[in-house]
Amino acid sequence: MNSALQCLVHCEELTEYFLSQVYKTELNETNPLGMKGQLARSYFYLIAALFNPGFQKPAFPPTEFRKVLGRFAPNFAGYTQQDSQEFLAFLLDGLHEDLNRVRNKPYVEREELIGVTPSEEQLRELGEKSWRGHTLRNDSVIVDLCQGLYKSTVVCPVCEVVSVTFDPFMDLSVPLPIKQMYSHLLRREADEGGNILALCLYLGRGIWLGWRSSYRKVRPLRI
Ligand SMILES: [Zn+2]
Repeated sequence: MNSALQCLVHCEELTEYFLSQVYKTELNETNPLGMKGQLARSYFYLIAALFNPGFQKPAFPPTEFRKVLGRFAPNFAGYTQQDSQEFLAFLLDGLHEDLNRVRNKPYVEREELIGVTPSEEQLRELGEKSWRGHTLRNDSVIVDLCQGLYKSTVVCPVCEVVSVTFDPFMDLSVPLPIKQMYSHLLRREADEGGNILALCLYLGRGIWLGWRSSYRKVRPLRI
């Protein structure tokens, strides 16, 4: 919870939105999907305390915020470790619904292109239509800052018909660049007998690789 909050409070635009009190004019207390504005309000109190220039202590315990959060999501109420990404997704979604400018969500048909591979022009049109449809139901500072669309293409393996849709997203999973991380940790060296050693520069520990080892083989090694 701590790491996710640290990231979010340093999202300057969002913090500015709360500190300038614009959020008050957009509070949606009647949204059945929201938390009656309570989550947004307690997030504001948290930010106001953190960014209060008079606050001198080195750390701030988000006790009140956690209490309000726990009312709506009991699994985040305790002191146990939580999944940061899961917590952030819950918090952003809660803030979004608490601040949704749409009071009555209209029914919106999902746009889709079916047939052969669509042209750039058709794709752009579909993207624009899909986004318009999404914002007819979802329109908040979270949508402005954190949401986008990704294109999803499905090709039928039997008749090769192509179906394209655009789906909204709020977070994306990206792989960690593991290869780059290890490529600079190792140095290849030969000992007195001519054996090749891979030396971890951080640990200073050598690994014997044998005569024919190449640097390429060393790289994916994990120490
Ligand atoms: Zn088919």
